[in-house]
Amino acid sequence: MQRAAHVAIALLAIVPLGASRATAAGVLPATPMLPPMIVTVAAASDVPASLVSMTLAETEAIWRRAGFTFIWQRVSLDAWPLDTPPRPASLRVVIGRNQRTAADGTLPLGWIVFDDVTTPEQEVYVSYASAVRFLDTAGSAVGPIHSMPRLQRETLMARAMGRVLAHEIGHYLLASKAHSAHGLMKAVQTAVELFSPDRTRFIVEPSQMTAVAARVASLQPAVPAAVPMVTPRYRGGVQ
Ligand SMILES: [Zn+2]
Repeated sequence: MQRAAHVAIALLAIVPLGASRATAAGVLPATPMLPPMIVTVAAASDVPASLVSMTLAETEAIWRRAGFTFIWQRVSLDAWPLDTPPRPASLRVVIGRNQRTAADGTLPLGWIVFDDVTTPEQEVYVSYASAVRFLDTAGSAVGPIHSMPRLQRETLMARAMGRVLAHEIGHYLLASKAHSAHGLMKAVQTAVELFSPDRTRFIVEPSQMTAVAARVASLQPAVPAAVPMVTPRYRGGVQ
């Protein structure tokens, strides 16, 4: 533990002032680091806490690569009234047992509701029940499920759920229902793509990050004009 802590300090120490944590982790963001978004995560009591942690880590890894991070605030879905309106400029994620069907035979693993074409609601739903079903029917994409150790099963589930959550957050951050031909915002992902250890297909494109940066700026609460505590003085300046 002692050695690991020293390594971490050394990594942080060589990062130039103002550089992002993503840079510290060896990942170059496509855009300058944006302020993190606060996300309340409410999971049903039968969703393992370890699975929720790994799911959020997967989502975080996808977006951190593009220069965007989150502050996750976890609560129990059973103890948390869903009719509480979310705070402005924040998002909530519900991980539960609701399921939806799609007319085209695909299985929705997560969703976000739009009030109109460009106004997403501040809530993303990730269906744990559908993810379990998806894994059970993934067949050769993942191998035999029932003989799998619990950790391996959770790892696979977390990849899929984390990528789905990252995609739905993409709709929120882009304020758009639109899909792209490749990358994170592709409409339909296969079992191989969702369960693979390789997450590089889930890339956020630079043009999408430009739109995200504009949207994040518009979501920031208006800051009242600050009253300076001291009179600003400038070295060598004229007052
Ligand atoms: Zn979508």
